[in-house]
Amino acid sequence: MRTRVLKLDPNLPDDSVLRQAVEVILRGGLVAFPTETVYGLGANALNGEACARIFDAKGRPHDNPLIVHLADPSDYTKYAECANTALFEEIARRFMPGPITVILPKKKEIPDEVTVGLQTVALRCPSHKIAHRLIELAGVPIAAPSANLSGKPSPTTAEHVIEDMDGRIDLILDGGESAVGVESTVISLKGDSIHLLRPGFVTAEDLFTITPKVMIDPAVLSQLEKGVKPESPGMKYRHYAPSALLTMVCGSEEKVISFFREKLQCGCGILCFEEDIPHLKGFGDPARVIAFGKRADLSSQAHLLFAALRRFDKMNLEHIYARHTAENDLGLAISNRLLRACAFDILELEREP
Ligand code: AMP
Ligand code: MG
Repeated sequence: MRTRVLKLDPNLPDDSVLRQAVEVILRGGLVAFPTETVYGLGANALNGEACARIFDAKGRPHDNPLIVHLADPSDYTKYAECANTALFEEIARRFMPGPITVILPKKKEIPDEVTVGLQTVALRCPSHKIAHRLIELAGVPIAAPSANLSGKPSPTTAEHVIEDMDGRIDLILDGGESAVGVESTVISLKGDSIHLLRPGFVTAEDLFTITPKVMIDPAVLSQLEKGVKPESPGMKYRHYAPSALLTMVCGSEEKVISFFREKLQCGCGILCFEEDIPHLKGFGDPARVIAFGKRADLSSQAHLLFAALRRFDKMNLEHIYARHTAENDLGLAISNRLLRACAFDILELEREP
């Protein structure tokens, strides 16, 4: 299959270009498109066969359901039931359109291929102008996971999508870089409480401003025990992983820097904060040191994380060592992705006696 790439202005997308994408979607094809979180790989969510093609193109495990994207939050009543409409509507009023996905009991209009047989459906309204207008013009909801090969870091540019999907899908809409850089926050509603299944740009702290009843799923920061079935099937997979082994390093400043120096001299890659760079000069090839933002700049870390992991992939390294990030606010999402990328391989450097 030949994959076409069409460029679009992310601030003022041209309807005549978007209509070419709509034509592909409505005939059951696959279109990658930018969203504010990462690039998505979209198909008509009401066409089971088209959605099944997403799994083939990505090599996605067949028990990992897809998120359905809507143009407007009020459309949810067509596809889902909600026992607590007041809570849903407050979440929608505050955070939609935007980087949040809500899991609700599904209606029969959503085919089993999307939900892999679950009785629930994940719904999101992207705020990105290209994504929003594409769904609006299509007139159907669009099912879309991230547009990467399964297990690889999510794509935040059209170039990343081309790397993984060229020849496997019909069309890529190139709208530049995704602003947020990590996938949407995923929540489910349990009575009057919110269950946080995957952290994202809408943070636990943001959700606490709606209700004190926010539960953070244990799978967000810890490894599931064998045989335990998570509420969100995606949480059980090694994800976002570069080809090299990845280890997260914790410890005092001094210990971490001297450990990084030693590993850099041995030919490893270092994923670090900008402040670390001067301390690593002269200890090995500076191309193997990638900073993903200042220590306190969580937005930059989220924005650059997956692009950094993909840059390391081009270097054919055996091992990458990464900084441990804060776990508050957006840091929870960054830590969650890094922990999955390193398959929970954390090195605690010995503390000074
Ligand atoms: P992706 O679109 O690749 O970023 O992944 C979507 C995430 O949402 C995965 O972790 C899925 O397991 C999760 N998800 C999608 N639909 C559901 C659902 N109905 N119930 C629980 N989790 C879901
Ligand atoms: Mg994904």
